[in-house]
Amino acid sequence: MNALLPTSIVGSLPKPSWLAQPETLWSPWKLEGDELLEGKRDALSLAVDEQRLAGLDVVSDGEQTRQHFVTTFIEHLSGVDFERRETVRIRDRYDASVPTVIGAVGRERPVFADDARALRAQTDRRIKWALPGPMTMIDTLSDRHYRSREKLAWEFAKILNQEAKELEAAGVDIIQFDEPAFNVFFDEVGDWGVAALERAAEGLRSETVVHICYGYGIKANTDWKATLGPEWRQYEQTFPLLQRSTIDTVSLESHNSRVPVDLIELLRGKNVMLGAIDVASDQIETPDEVAATLRDALRFVDADRLCPSTNCGMAPLARQVARDKMSALAAGADIVRAELA
Ligand SMILES: [Zn+2]
Repeated sequence: MNALLPTSIVGSLPKPSWLAQPETLWSPWKLEGDELLEGKRDALSLAVDEQRLAGLDVVSDGEQTRQHFVTTFIEHLSGVDFERRETVRIRDRYDASVPTVIGAVGRERPVFADDARALRAQTDRRIKWALPGPMTMIDTLSDRHYRSREKLAWEFAKILNQEAKELEAAGVDIIQFDEPAFNVFFDEVGDWGVAALERAAEGLRSETVVHICYGYGIKANTDWKATLGPEWRQYEQTFPLLQRSTIDTVSLESHNSRVPVDLIELLRGKNVMLGAIDVASDQIETPDEVAATLRDALRFVDADRLCPSTNCGMAPLARQVARDKMSALAAGADIVRAELA
């Protein structure tokens, strides 16, 4: 296990084809009832093995027990009607049919604690668990109750905090909040987004991460990226706010993106989880390419604060592609670690 340049994936891995249709988002399960429960657990074990074989230092569940990183959490909450669906624009980018908030939202019971315990039982390495962030949750719903994005985000922040504390008790070392919405709604990030995120992370002893990206490698995202011009400066708005926040680590997209690497300087003093693997391409990075991305970033982040990672989740990729990309990530980090020693 490496203390310096600890490697990890952002979150999701492809699911085995006997569990869900591969290379598809929101893919329906192929099993039911107890067989589904057992299948999800088996897939979680495989995800742990694949990360161990690749040589990653921090291990995740690969989101094998979830259909989607936002909706699966929301499905476990009261106050949301999944039968009543409305079409809304998600992240100002694409329309989707989403469930509706019809009353006060609440969490009746822990959502992921059992899965987190299963992950904890399978590895001695540090483990990381991803939850959706409050702003990204409200952006994936239609709200007919609170009629205020800020109020609903605050309620979700309190619920996420309860869940995060139970994950911590289950042995999770690192809690990550996924907030791709932070790359879109800049005024709200400043007005209440960071405050809601800090509320979700309040009182946690584990390391806290916020992941902000340009999304999975799906068409709606690649089309959007094509409109962003030669330099993607979205992080410039949020990084100064996060640098002053209580969140320990910021996860960002870098390799093959048009994000100017010097924006990392805005996070000085925070840990930086750097995307050195492109999840929107099947091309496998070479270890040298990964090393070059890390060296470039080291001009703007202290070596003891750099955590090599992927740009985003790998759910839509083929399994072998995801495995090879994880191996490249670990091998690239090895190169730079040797240089630093
Ligand atoms: Zn992402």
